[in-house]
Amino acid sequence: MLKDCQLDHIAIAVKNIEEKVKIYRDLGIHFEDRREIVPEQKVKTAFATIEEHAHLELLEPTSDQSPIAQYIAKKGEGIHHLCFKVTDIKAKSAELKAKGYTLIYENPVKGANNKLINFIHPKSTGGVLIELSEELG
Ligand code: ZN
Repeated sequence: MLKDCQLDHIAIAVKNIEEKVKIYRDLGIHFEDRREIVPEQKVKTAFATIEEHAHLELLEPTSDQSPIAQYIAKKGEGIHHLCFKVTDIKAKSAELKAKGYTLIYENPVKGANNKLINFIHPKSTGGVLIELSEELG
């Protein structure tokens, strides 16, 4: 199914990015200094490159209404989603919908790093929230 996908990032929900960056620094993984606020998701993000294409993403809620704040309140901090990069997110979303998967958004929305994103609901994927992303040119 996800043959033309490659791992883009693993995202971790945290209460405070700056506190958690230290843990990864101790492991030898360096987060970029840049932080990005994504108003659509009510989160602040930080990225670290772990392999050629794969990153770690830390997600800190910027509001109690953030889905990440709600996630942390329910499940605590921890791995939140996997993200796969696809070449055509609209086509991939339509293909998955036709196969019976539940997508979070009817149409892809804007995410961090100038990308279009959508999510496959964890009830469709055995409990894993999967993000799909397409880089905008
Ligand atoms: Zn993500």
